[in-house]
Amino acid sequence: EKSSLLSTFDGSGQLADGTLLPLLANVGGAKDAQEAADANAQGVGLLRTEFCFLGNDSEPSHDEQVAAYKGVFDAFPGKKVVVRTLDAGADKPLPFLTDSTEPNPALGVRGYRTDLTTPGVLARQLAAIADAAASSSAEVWVMAPMISTPAEAADFAALCTAAGLRTPGVMVEVPSAALSSRHILDRVEFASIGTNDLTQYTMAADRQLGPLAALNDPWQPAVLALVQATVEGAVSQVKHSRSLETTSPKPVGVCGEAAADPALAVVLAGLGVSSLSMTPRALPAVAAVLRTVTPAQARSLADRAVAAASAAEARELVRAGLPALAELG
Ligand code: PEP
Ligand code: MG
Repeated sequence: EKSSLLSTFDGSGQLADGTLLPLLANVGGAKDAQEAADANAQGVGLLRTEFCFLGNDSEPSHDEQVAAYKGVFDAFPGKKVVVRTLDAGADKPLPFLTDSTEPNPALGVRGYRTDLTTPGVLARQLAAIADAAASSSAEVWVMAPMISTPAEAADFAALCTAAGLRTPGVMVEVPSAALSSRHILDRVEFASIGTNDLTQYTMAADRQLGPLAALNDPWQPAVLALVQATVEGAVSQVKHSRSLETTSPKPVGVCGEAAADPALAVVLAGLGVSSLSMTPRALPAVAAVLRTVTPAQARSLADRAVAAASAAEARELVRAGLPALAELG
């Protein structure tokens, strides 16, 4: 009986009072996207485009790229699909973009930084995304991985504009980006926090190393404080904005694995993020637990988690405040 309760998501993420919190899917291609649509994901919060081309020795052609992206867009007609530009490097090497001899790949030329060493690939990818978007009804947003400064965000936005893409954003996965989100959001339309890398870089612990798993824990209060700082930056950006029309902060979502942990999803909601994107398998449990808390309860649990002295303490405090977790398994 418990498992049937948890086996489906009705397609509307919300808190106990009806406050909406869209629940989206992380996907790596068209097949994943169809599975996500079948699981009632409200859109795609992260399309990892490098997964489409992991076997390629050379840059995929324009037509190959358009077909890969359109396969995802067509699974979500009329819905939001956030495309991340190639995040090559470190744990995801692509031979046509990355240098396998770097001594510190996680701190090296990866993600958006490959545009410095291999210029042109990013602009051609954006052109392919724009063509695929033009022939589908999905609401296509595009974001860059591994952005560290407002200047990089501005450069990425300019490339997107040149390609005719109107909703540029960035991932927040480097502590400097979290701490400068106000200035970054002056230059792009949204941010999406990648808690996997944000944790790795906050704790200075390689996410691929088993012995460092306890450090590599998104419950680390320092990581949660950076999520909080990112959201506060968005609030301060809109306050200082000169535009008279802007009234609500620009979207700040989360697309790291943290969003797939139901208790942590409550904390993220309490910190004020605007959407959660996760592996489709996690949607039913996350949705079920979010529905048991009011925004005020989520805020109070989030405050306690940020103020905790350790990841274990944060986890315990929050789990104790969520009786639904035990009931739902
Ligand atoms: C992240 O870093 O949290 C993220 C979503 O990106 P990836 O796991 O693909 O690096
Ligand atoms: Mg990442």
